[in-house]
Amino acid sequence: MSFNFSQKTAVSTKELFRQAEFDNILKCVHCGLCLDSCPTYRELDDEKDSPRGRLYIMRGLWEGELELEPSVIEPLSRCLDCRACESACPSGVPYGELLEKTRGIILENTPQSLKEKFLRRVLFKGLFRSDKLLITASWILKIYSASGLPKLITKTIVGNFLPKSFVFQQHLLPECSGKSFKRKYADEILPPFLPPEIEVIDSQIQKKNLRVAMFSGCIMDVSETAVHESTLTLLRHIGCEVVVPGNQGCCGALHVHSGDRKTAQEFALKNLAAFEPRHLDAIITNAAGCGAQLQEYHHLFSETNPESETGGKSAENWISFENKIVDVLEFLSRFPELLEKLSWRNDEDTVLYDAPCHLMHAQKVDENPRKLLNNLPGVRLVPLNESNWCCGSAGIYNIVQPELSGAVLNRKIESLRKTLVSNPKATTIVTGNPGCLYQIRAGIRSNNIDIRIIHPVVYLAERLKKNGI
Ligand code: SF4
Ligand code: SF4
Repeated sequence: MSFNFSQKTAVSTKELFRQAEFDNILKCVHCGLCLDSCPTYRELDDEKDSPRGRLYIMRGLWEGELELEPSVIEPLSRCLDCRACESACPSGVPYGELLEKTRGIILENTPQSLKEKFLRRVLFKGLFRSDKLLITASWILKIYSASGLPKLITKTIVGNFLPKSFVFQQHLLPECSGKSFKRKYADEILPPFLPPEIEVIDSQIQKKNLRVAMFSGCIMDVSETAVHESTLTLLRHIGCEVVVPGNQGCCGALHVHSGDRKTAQEFALKNLAAFEPRHLDAIITNAAGCGAQLQEYHHLFSETNPESETGGKSAENWISFENKIVDVLEFLSRFPELLEKLSWRNDEDTVLYDAPCHLMHAQKVDENPRKLLNNLPGVRLVPLNESNWCCGSAGIYNIVQPELSGAVLNRKIESLRKTLVSNPKATTIVTGNPGCLYQIRAGIRSNNIDIRIIHPVVYLAERLKKNGI
């Protein structure tokens, strides 16, 4: 039977979960080995707020023993979806997939407040669907930042008269460019900086360049310009031909995490149509959360769905697309001999590393980015204490669960302070996910710590000598 996300009938909770293909929940043997890796369990010390507790709840819903009521839904809403429990689980429980399906059922089958309905309509179904609105919002935020108001609120007595969460949100603001990266390069074929390698096949001379595409995202497309520009520079320096499809869109991760699978399905089909016809060797992402979402699009489409619900796309379409998605750090690390040929600065520097949850626990990418950075001439990479722990950003978790998010962030800032005690010369932290970058930057700013945080590709591009070759 197919899983229809729009159904709002008198179907029982048990039946809704049966339709969502939930059998993997049986993999959980309730051993509890995941508990110590869970940030919310550590903060709240309550089994309901642990992975095992949440799986018990989901199983209760699946078996029809529990109903969708506030006391059941709240612990599930407090989950960060950081997926640290997946890395700790010896039984291979796909916790993230189960949680995201559950949140989809909750959204479709429980009433929402007017405020939530309004925000979903304006942000998720409005802003993230429209390039023009994203560019306009980016302009407004750029002007707002330039006006000095955020500084006035965070640095002066003015902040004392405002809600704490509003003051903290000033620190969270991204550095907006007011311009779209994908529109700047839309559909150009950007040649490599290196001459193409040549090989002869059947007496024909053929160029051996890899052709890759960049995924530019939604908020990232109009903010933190240096991350995309640095990614582009590095890819071209290792000999790639790069395209930035102008018709790509948001990955849908924020939607999936909050249960809006229908809008995410729409984005999945849009992105498949944007990238699939371009004959690519790889699709490069520089946002760990987007990369994880793009690699898991098939979770949004049940194998047994009728064609109308999948836009006519088969499992093979998704597998071929998902197999091409690579995080930029993982991709660069595949070409050590090309990186070695580039001309790097060699002054000594100590850099601190934070591992984004969706890179480490969802994409299972960890060692190669660290090796890549540590192998740069003169660079010593030091992982933060508890580098693998969530920072509390988790999409819009820092806005919808500000207190718990704040507690998780405080732990991260304490880890940073401890790491700085043994590495006092470090002036830079790197992290490969924009949400983590905004969150940790906000923590650094609100605690007046003298260190900068940037994306690893920005750091790599800084270490390249001007011509790089
Ligand atoms: S999710 Fe995995 S580690 Fe956690 S209780 Fe279940 S089987 Fe054990
Ligand atoms: S996803 Fe993260 S917050 Fe949620 S249960 Fe797993 S470890 Fe805990």
